[in-house]
Amino acid sequence: MTDTWIISANKNIAALVDLGREYGGKVNVIVAGDVDIAGVDRVIRIPIEKDAPVEVAAPVFGNVLAGLANRGDMILAANRPAERVLAAAAAARLGAPIFTGLRHAQPDGDLATGHLARFGGIADQDVAFRGPYVAVVDGGGEIEGEAVESEDASHNTAAADTYSARIVSEEKDNVQSAQLNQAQRIVCAGRGFNNKEDLSLAEDLAKAVDGELGCTRPLSEGTSWMSRDRYIGISGVSVSPDLYIAAGVSGQIQHTSGINDAKVIVAINNDPDAPIFEQADYGIVGDVYQIIPALTQALQS
Ligand SMILES: Cc1cc2nc3c(=O)[nH]c(=O)nc-3n(C[C@H](O)[C@H](O)[C@H](O)COP(=O)(O)OP(=O)(O)OC[C@H]3O[C@@H](n4cnc5c(N)ncnc54)[C@H](O)[C@@H]3O)c2cc1C
Repeated sequence: MTDTWIISANKNIAALVDLGREYGGKVNVIVAGDVDIAGVDRVIRIPIEKDAPVEVAAPVFGNVLAGLANRGDMILAANRPAERVLAAAAAARLGAPIFTGLRHAQPDGDLATGHLARFGGIADQDVAFRGPYVAVVDGGGEIEGEAVESEDASHNTAAADTYSARIVSEEKDNVQSAQLNQAQRIVCAGRGFNNKEDLSLAEDLAKAVDGELGCTRPLSEGTSWMSRDRYIGISGVSVSPDLYIAAGVSGQIQHTSGINDAKVIVAINNDPDAPIFEQADYGIVGDVYQIIPALTQALQS
């Protein structure tokens, strides 16, 4: 039986657990620090000091997996900064390949196989390896289920020394982390908006539909009007909401490859020939500065 090993420093791993259940074998979590893990078959805990960053445990994750992961097993990590480091360290220790864009996984004898989205979903690829592979994917929401008692990592392998580092200060920015990949409704602002202040129109519409505000890359990486975790597309986030409203978005493929799984797409653009209309279920040809306030008002009343 081929198993799944989830590398984690966080309890937001529901999507990884789902992938593991689909894979069929046992779903095991190796977790750093005091995070409570529920709803899986086995939890191995790597203790770390309170003032240490989880990355100090990177060599131990690799060693635990080297002792436990078998041929055909799948190793998953959430696409978050700390877990990316842990996943990379594990892949290096195991000499295993590391992927992004894993959509489905199914075992095939002692082969680790997976179905990957390539180029932001424009192409698909099936992979199969004789050893385990590591995949970094969206972690999803918080795991639910019965609490699982954890085992100490040192029972399973000779734990390598952790790196020596501690956090000496923390500076929090005011950016609210967006969970766009879990949002059911998204309003996406594009370069049809002339100023950062005007984005309040899109924000009001997002509130009126009880959704999240996202953007195209130029609004994040070009102008820095919005944080990087809010831009959608091939190099940003892939989303799958029930409703996606593209406002002042042209619809270049680097953007639309991130919305292939949206159920209903509404586009507002003043150019009737904008490519976004080819993918939209509903299109409004008009000025975002007129259409959006009118829509918001209609939804609020
Ligand atoms: C390697 C690479 C990776 C990339 N990755 C991404 C990615 O992940 N995500 C992403 O978004 N982009 C990405 N891009 C950029 C992408 O190619 C486009 O440049 C970008 O998506 C365009 O953003 P936009 O639609 O906001 O702007 P534009 O293409 O400039 O479109 C603005 C649209 O607004 C309309 N408009 C203007 N004024 C109004 C108004 N008043 N009312 C209504 N409509 C109006 C215009 O008609 C136009 O269609 C990438 C590019 C490269 C090269």
